[in-house]
Amino acid sequence: MTSRVQPHLTRRTLLTGALALGTGAALPLGAAGRARAAHGPEIAACVTWGARPPSESVVVLAQPPQRIIVHHTATANVTDYSKERAYTLARAIQNYHMDTHGWIDTGQHFTVSRGAFVMEGRHNSLDELQSGLRQVRAAHCVGQNTLSIGIENEGTYTTVEPPAAQYAALVELCAHVCRQYGLPPSEIYGHRDFNDTGCPGDRLYAMLPKLRHDVAAKTGETLTDPLWQFIGNLERDGGPGQSDYFPGGIPGLGALR
Ligand SMILES: [Zn+2]
Repeated sequence: MTSRVQPHLTRRTLLTGALALGTGAALPLGAAGRARAAHGPEIAACVTWGARPPSESVVVLAQPPQRIIVHHTATANVTDYSKERAYTLARAIQNYHMDTHGWIDTGQHFTVSRGAFVMEGRHNSLDELQSGLRQVRAAHCVGQNTLSIGIENEGTYTTVEPPAAQYAALVELCAHVCRQYGLPPSEIYGHRDFNDTGCPGDRLYAMLPKLRHDVAAKTGETLTDPLWQFIGNLERDGGPGQSDYFPGGIPGLGALR
């Protein structure tokens, strides 16, 4: 698979270029019009669901992520499983993160609706996922925003499990992220593993061993034990954290539960 790579275009060259992008250069926004990622699940790009531009250029980090962190949005467990609802959710989250939190864009990298629609969150997350080399700096988990891919799952999973279709979409998305970045399926965690939060809810959190197993079945890897408990003193990046706690519900989408 490397026969088409030009000899001078080494990994180091690519990483150096990526680093330069991360120092303030304006980036093209998303994969215009692209709805289906290569060799992965269908992911609606920001332009597809009608995102606003970020308030400043998103930062692309030169290194790939080390893990995946699963969240729930803590919003109502709606029974509207339509694409329109999913796109409305994505816009509402972006508005909430930008207008209420003052963040530059949506906090998380990807969102999975209760109707199993998968959407790009922060701009450029989809392009960088396809690169398999870099990640966008995000705002979904304090201390992990430069180290992990954040996935928000629409709903509140403290006492109920996600709909089967939503869970299946999460499995497909995680498998794709693992393949693209070379991550072992053991490196899938819940937000509460890193921050003082109930996220992603007791029921979804209890499903994480199954999620790791199901992702490993998709990627064909042998499931190993998670590594996080051996990491010790995690690097803190000081960035914003909980993207998914909506105590009053997302404006326009109804109150929590
Ligand atoms: Zn969370």
